[in-house]
Amino acid sequence: MIPIDFEYSAPANLKEALGLLADPGAKALSGGMSLIPMMKLRLATPEKIVDLSRIAELNGISESGGEVRLGALTTHFQVESSAAVRKSCPLLAETAAAIGDVQVRNMGTIGGSVAHADPSADYPAALQALEAKVRLVSAAGDRTVGIDEFLVDTFTTSAGPGEIVREVIVPVEAAGTGTAYAKMLQPASGFAIVGVAVRVRKSGGKVSFARIGVTGLSSRAYRAVKAEDALMKGAGVADAAALVAGGAEASSDIHASVAYRKQMAKVYAGRAISAALERAAG
Ligand SMILES: Cc1cc2nc3c(=O)[nH]c(=O)nc-3n(C[C@H](O)[C@H](O)[C@H](O)COP(=O)(O)OP(=O)(O)OC[C@H]3O[C@@H](n4cnc5c(N)ncnc54)[C@H](O)[C@@H]3O)c2cc1C
Repeated sequence: MIPIDFEYSAPANLKEALGLLADPGAKALSGGMSLIPMMKLRLATPEKIVDLSRIAELNGISESGGEVRLGALTTHFQVESSAAVRKSCPLLAETAAAIGDVQVRNMGTIGGSVAHADPSADYPAALQALEAKVRLVSAAGDRTVGIDEFLVDTFTTSAGPGEIVREVIVPVEAAGTGTAYAKMLQPASGFAIVGVAVRVRKSGGKVSFARIGVTGLSSRAYRAVKAEDALMKGAGVADAAALVAGGAEASSDIHASVAYRKQMAKVYAGRAISAALERAAG
């Protein structure tokens, strides 16, 4: 449980941090909730740690042009308790509140969570349902990618060498949208055995818009497009929920078999869809 020796630096600005991170042996540190345990287990052995936590430019929540922008260092607790996020993107606040325990939510950050790309992490389900964007920055420049392009596989993103997450961008929710996140959690950690995030809008009592993100089931979070289409074509909750796991290659581990995970995906999708429909206007 002792990491290998490493150099530590805590730059005060982004430019300096990006310069340090251009070294292939360097790794960013945010809340340390995932990286420190991995270093202690020697699953990660970075030669240099660049602690981002003092960089003010990476912190904070703002809203402009119909989008909410969350700096990479925004903690899960800040997301869950922000009045602006609760109002403009309630799905994200609800999801943040479901992460781990209060200590983890006080230290862990949205940038660290998406960059880590844990297949059981909660945010990716909501970010898929929100069709979120991730703004990346490196010494070479700045670019923004959609969440689906960003999440490649287990612990793998499309961020290039020296590139870090600068902010996560989600849409300001349209009035009348109903949203919900439901997860079956692994009781020791809180990570999702399966988690389903849903956004729906209704018109004349019928579902006119549906977005469903699923985490935990597979090697990366994904959108359950067939279930979304079924809801928009008038399918009932149970029929749509049954399509959420369809086509996904479900994972098996010490917590859940493939069959159990798929069954739980159906159950929790049903709960999330029902809750979102109840919260939607129209
Ligand atoms: C006991 C426990 C329970 C947990 N339960 C849950 C849970 O229920 N649900 C859940 O979703 N998560 C859970 N987590 C994980 C938690 O949400 C972490 O906050 C998250 O995985 C990583 O965020 P961090 O800020 O701590 O990142 P760090 O641990 O500092 O970094 C994680 C990885 O991301 C990289 N990184 C960090 N910041 C950036 C950045 N800005 N740009 C690019 N790369 C970056 C690091 O180099 C590292 O590879 C749990 C963790 C613990 C310890």
